[in-house]
Amino acid sequence: MTRIAVLGSTNMDLVAYVHRAPRRGETVTGREFRTVPGGKGANQAVAAARAGGKVSMIGAVGSDDFGARLRAALADAGIDTALLRTTDGRSGTAHIVVDDEGGNAIVVVPGANAAVTSLTPEDEALIATADSLLLQLELPLSAVIAGAEAAHRHGVRTILTPAPAQCLPPELLASTDLLIPNEHEAVELTGVADPHAAAAELLRSVPEVVITLGSAGCLYAARGAQPVTVPTRRVRAVDTTAAGDTFTGALAVALGEGRPVADALAWASSAAALSVQRPGASSSMPYRPEIDAL
Ligand code: ATP
Repeated sequence: MTRIAVLGSTNMDLVAYVHRAPRRGETVTGREFRTVPGGKGANQAVAAARAGGKVSMIGAVGSDDFGARLRAALADAGIDTALLRTTDGRSGTAHIVVDDEGGNAIVVVPGANAAVTSLTPEDEALIATADSLLLQLELPLSAVIAGAEAAHRHGVRTILTPAPAQCLPPELLASTDLLIPNEHEAVELTGVADPHAAAAELLRSVPEVVITLGSAGCLYAARGAQPVTVPTRRVRAVDTTAAGDTFTGALAVALGEGRPVADALAWASSAAALSVQRPGASSSMPYRPEIDAL
């Protein structure tokens, strides 16, 4: 089994469904409320576990009820949580308002995630045994950099999702093997709108890039090779939340199994195409037999 370490965020998503989002100073009545385990790190961990990876999660939850639920949700997905710390205080939360047109507004309060500022020796030992380390930008940057550098030292493939988009320090890029921005993040990082040009720009800093392009699939580029566009399946999308996280988790598993890049990208696209046909974030992520069947 491919071993995947995830150094990233866990959040409880607090989702209110409304006809129309409130304006400043206004109160509106919602029609439904749900609490759903989330966070980009945890979502990628679940995606990789369902795709058949042996996944360990490094991060932190709070000492509140949400923390216990977040830990249990990861354990239920078969993810090793031995290095998921519990810190005094609140877990990370994402306060999400979804309107009738599917538009959303989100406030993320990092909570326990903010306490993960560095790696412990146990974290590094675990990363050293992995095939790939998955990183995003919802933990303090100091921890993300330390994780990438540890992976690099031990020859572990480092896969970085640069979300939420922000300027990436050179030492992080220097330890990143594969960067996976979506098209908006690619523009933010490079200032270039055309994905081919953005990928060429990003290859100056990292050896491999995948720019995900929503229903248009993805663009893969590597130094010294012609970029390739991988189309996705034509499906009826009902909810694209966490499509990118599903794609990344599945891609890490496929690459870890030594599949050729083109196969791995097609397989990850199938996983993502399955996820967009179902509502929710981690709840929409497919299991390996479904991906293989497609
Ligand atoms: P999110 O932030 O919701 O996780 P993202 O913006 O990071 O998503 P996208 O580029 O929207 O990521 O999508 C990731 C991958 O999911 C795409 O490369 C594609 O393979 C698949 N995908 C997304 N939207 C669709 C769609 N409408 N139909 C089929 N596949 C899709």
